[in-house]
Formats: sequence, C-alpha cells, structure tokens
Amino acid sequence: MSEDFYDVLGVSRDASEDEIKQAYREKAREYHPDVSDDPNAEEKFKKAKKAKEVLTDDEKRRMYDQVGHERFEQADKRGATGGGGGGMGGGNPFGGGGGGMGGMNDIFEQFFGGGAGGNRNGPRQGQDLRTRMTVSLEAAYEGITREFSVTRPEACPDCDGAGHPPEADAETCPECNGQGQTTRVQQTPLGRVQQTQTCRRCEGEGTLYSETCSTCGGDGRVQREATLQVDVPAGIRDGQSLRMSGEGAPGENNGPNGDLLIEVGVEPHPDFERDGDDLHYDAAVSFPKAVFGATIEVPTLDGPVEMDLNAGTQSGERLRLQGKGMPHLRGRGSGDLYVTVQVVTPTDLNEEQKEALEAFAEAGGEEVDVEEGFFEKIKNSF
Ligand SMILES: [Zn+2]
Ligand SMILES: [Zn+2]
Repeated sequence: MSEDFYDVLGVSRDASEDEIKQAYREKAREYHPDVSDDPNAEEKFKKAKKAKEVLTDDEKRRMYDQVGHERFEQADKRGATGGGGGGMGGGNPFGGGGGGMGGMNDIFEQFFGGGAGGNRNGPRQGQDLRTRMTVSLEAAYEGITREFSVTRPEACPDCDGAGHPPEADAETCPECNGQGQTTRVQQTPLGRVQQTQTCRRCEGEGTLYSETCSTCGGDGRVQREATLQVDVPAGIRDGQSLRMSGEGAPGENNGPNGDLLIEVGVEPHPDFERDGDDLHYDAAVSFPKAVFGATIEVPTLDGPVEMDLNAGTQSGERLRLQGKGMPHLRGRGSGDLYVTVQVVTPTDLNEEQKEALEAFAEAGGEEVDVEEGFFEKIKNSF
C-alpha cells in the first residue's frame, strides 16, 4: 500500500524543492477528484499531497531520508491519533491536510536531538584542554623540546573511571528503567513536543551502584598533575598554539581523549625585534667608521657575523643580512636580519679629540669655538 514519496511524485531523490512542487502540481492536475476518471484518484491525490508536504519541508525530508518510508509512516500514524485519519468517506478530499503534524514533532525530537538526549551512552570524545608556555627567542629560533606540567582530569586510577568499586552491586535505575534518560511530553501550540532529559538519578548511566568510589567521589575522574614533553618547532611565533593529540580530558564510555592545546608565548629579546620571520637590529657605529667605512660585528641568533660598511654610511641606513632571521615554521629557509646603522654622536671627548674635531671643522670652512661652545651649553642649561 504505502509507496515511497519520491516514487509517488516521480522525482529523483536529489530533486530540488521546485522540482518537487512542479511534480506535485502535475499530479494534482492529473488526480484531482473533480477532474480525473481514475477510480483511485482521490487516494492518489492525497498521497501526492502528503508526499509534497513532507518533501518540501527540509526537516521532515531529512528525517524521511534518514529513517525510510516505513518507519516514517509508522511514526506519523502514531502521532496522528485524532487528526484527519483513515475514513475516505468524507465529502471533501482536501480536508484532511493537517493530520499527523503532532506526531511529527515527536519523532523530530527523537531523531534530531531534543537537548542532551540522543547518544547518552555512546562513546564521546573528552574535552580539549588549554595551557600556556613561554619560550625565549633563542628557543624559538632553534626549536626546543620542553618539559612542562599540567593539571588535568584523568580517569580515576582506583575505579578505572567507573566511579564505583568493581565489587559494588549494580541495580537498574528505577527512575529511567535503565534508559539513562527520561522523556516528558508537552502540549504546545505547535503540537506535542517530546523532551528527553538525562536521568538525574543515575546521571545517564542507567545503573545505580551500592557503593561509590571514595577516591573520585563517583566522578570516575580525578585532577592530576602530569609531566609532559612537547616539541616546540623552530620558527614558532608568539601566540601560536601547539596541539598534543590525546593529551586532553579523558573520553567517556571508551571515547577518545580530547587534545591538549598549548599556546606559546615568545619572549621579547633585548637586541632583536621580530617582525614575522624577519629580525631587526640597531647597530651603533662611530662617526669615523661611518665616514671611512669599516667591518663591524653584528650579533645574530646564530652567533656574531661580520658586516662591511661602505665609506660614507649614513645614520638610519638599513642593511640586510639574508637568511639570518627566524626560520620559517615547518618550512625551508629563514627570514632576514635587517641591520639599521645608528651613527653615534660622541659625548665625552678628551682634549685631543676636541682639538681634532675643531681642526676638522675648520678644515671644512666651519667656524666652531670648542671651549666657548661647551661653556655656552653649560650656561644655557641654567
Ligand atoms: Zn574512582
Ligand atoms: Zn536513571
């Protein structure tokens, strides 16, 4: 008797809503009881109407696809008590429309998750946990294996996570008959709504035990400090997270553990400023070296290197040491080290230096009176 709704309308299983509506309009024209000569026209018309109603409602269609025609129809009938129902005798074949909507709501709740119901006793993955650690720029440059401690929930060692001693007597929870959840049916303007809740008495386990594990208080888990090792990869940046698979909270009902996420902070460095994978360094250079050119020593995270300054280097000039920056995370190569020259103006000159500078200025046609200049400064500062 019952026929698949897609077959009734003659559409494919992946038909769009428009295709379904179009197919229904054709069937309706064909089987309209006022028009058709077919003795079963009325019933066929009703079937087409029902098929269209279900297949043009996203939620109903999803459920229909999931549970199949048979079970869908059963559930519908169960809830349809009181609705339009069986009798074909009624004069108006268009009347029976609303039947079964109440029942629909029930089955939606059951299949599409009224609250935390559903898969209470199935395996569930444990929660992800988070922690932080800080590393130096040097460690971020080289990569480091770091030992650290984290306090996290673990399966109780005394009851193996069960929450009760192995020898405790078990009894089916009378509150939920071992189902682990209780069901409440509510009448709402939209129809009957079935609410499923985790059983409070047995907390969803379906079983009560004569004794509770004293170590974990029945929780099945205890907070423990664990010492772990993590590989912090070279090139890690401030604020990036590392994931340690399976080191999070234990799963429930033999579900897998969650993960541990470690947010890594990279400490600022006194010499280098980081910009992505590039580093910046300010090199102090004396005036004569800037004038005549020189080879200077520049620190890098890989040890000092020598760098040539051209004669006449200006203060603020930026030079690049290729590949001397931070390594690219999990990739080849490195960023660069940018060296900005800062020409230092001398402040504590001895007598000889003063004379030399004075001579330097005069040789360039500049008039400076060193002594007076110095006195001038002192005077002005009062
Ligand atoms: Zn325990
Ligand atoms: Zn219970």
